Parts: sequence; C-alpha cells; structure tokens
Amino acid sequence: MCDEDKQFLNNPDESLLRNIMMREKKSWNTKKYRDACAARIAGKTCIQCGSSEVLQVHHTLVKWKLYQKEEKEMAKLLIKEKMDKGEIEPQYKNFIKIKCPDCGAQYRAYFRSQSMPKTSTCRSCHTKLTLSESITTIEKELNYYIEKDGYIAFKEKYREEIKTRLKKKGVPDPPEYTDLSQDTIILCRKCHYAWHHGKTLCPICKKTYKRVHLPRCFYCLPPEEQERIKIAKKQREQEKKAYQELFEEDMRIDAEIEEEWRQKKINC
Ligand SMILES: [Zn+2]
Ligand SMILES: [Zn+2]
Ligand SMILES: [Zn+2]
Ligand SMILES: [Zn+2]
Repeated sequence: MCDEDKQFLNNPDESLLRNIMMREKKSWNTKKYRDACAARIAGKTCIQCGSSEVLQVHHTLVKWKLYQKEEKEMAKLLIKEKMDKGEIEPQYKNFIKIKCPDCGAQYRAYFRSQSMPKTSTCRSCHTKLTLSESITTIEKELNYYIEKDGYIAFKEKYREEIKTRLKKKGVPDPPEYTDLSQDTIILCRKCHYAWHHGKTLCPICKKTYKRVHLPRCFYCLPPEEQERIKIAKKQREQEKKAYQELFEEDMRIDAEIEEEWRQKKINC
C-alpha cells in the first residue's frame, strides 16, 4: 500500500466526492471512462483484502484536496495584496483606542460599526469606564477577510491569476477525475461498499470491518478489554431498564396521589 492510500484510509470525505461526481458525471458515464476503469483494474487485487473478485476503482481525492488547500492559501494572499493596492474594496475592522484616566493604560476594543460600546473595563486596573471623547479615539484597520459570497466571487474573478501563481509556485494541477492513473485505488466491491459506510478492513484479522478512525476491530481487542466493553454495555442496558421500570412505578404512584390524597388516612 502506498502512502497515498494510507492517507486515504484515514481521510474519508464523502460529500467532497459526491460534489466532484456530480460535476464530472458526464465524462463518468461514457464508454471511454468504463474502458479506462477496466484497464486500471486488470490484473489487480483489492488493496484491503487482496480479493480479485468484482474490483472497482475508488477515487481517493488526496491530490485534489491538497490542491484545494494550496488554492485557498493563494487566494488569501491575493486578497491581502489587492486590498493593500486598493484594487478591491477594503474591508475595515473598527476599534476604539482607550486611555484609562485612572491608571493611564492604553488598550483597544473592537466593535461592529453599529454598536459602539458605551462602557469598558480597563484591561489593566479593571475600573469600569464610561467612554467619552476625552479618553477614546475611534480608529480602523484593514481587515483582510472577505465573507463567504464575496470570497467565492473573488475566486471566480481571479481564477486565472490564482492558477498562474500556483503553477509558478510549483503546485501541480489537480488530477482530472477521469485520469485514473492518479488519486485512485482498487477495492473489491465489499471493501468499497464498507468504505462508503465509513469502515475499513481491520488490519489485524483482515476479516471484520472497523471504523476508519479506530486501529482495530472489536474482536481484535485484548480479551479483557472486550469483556470490559461488554460489561459496560450490559450495565447501561440494566440502568436503562431500571429507569424504565421506575418510571412506570412513578406514574402509578403519581396517579394514586392525585386520586386519593384527600380520602386516604396516612399510617405512620
Ligand atoms: Zn476487499
Ligand atoms: Zn468509492
Ligand atoms: Zn486603568
Ligand atoms: Zn480485527
């Protein structure tokens, strides 16, 4: 198993995969693509269980995700540059600079433009201050952050520039979904099905499927650990049952109280 595959085993991302599949669906359903799959599978075995029956190609998206990460960082850098140059509308963070009249300490308090604070507690001497012009100045500084919609629009507008810069930086293009020589692994149908349900084959017994984030399946835990888990489960069930019985009993008593408290004599 290569490093990429190992990474894939620890890193499921179903929604991402679904998005790409929707986007690439056209190319995905062609005879050409099916032939490419058959060629990729020929002579291989499942990377998890070693079976050679009903093999399928699974996209790991490892390189694709790396590219996305680089792309995001580059976009952030570009936003900063363009705001500094005034090429895109600057976004400001507002803050007031406060000078405490009691101790002389100076500090900043950030606020949203509509809600300028009226009071503040001095960071240094903890005196509660009523803010007035004499002790505060309002200032602002560039905020290199664009909210989500703006960010998407930015990425769209500067797509080519981001791409060129990434190339210059030596970041390889993300593989095409239909290019099966990259970012794919071979799984048998059963392991593939388990994978899409968040489970991979236990590396110890190679029989049972385990949760992706766990190192081994239940049956490969030391016997005393298995016993401990079984007992804890039983205890929880018993507790639940006890509460249920208690609850039913309680309902009965409550009804009785409600009905009979006036008539019944209490013996004590
Ligand atoms: Zn398998
Ligand atoms: Zn898959
Ligand atoms: Zn102070
Ligand atoms: Zn196991």
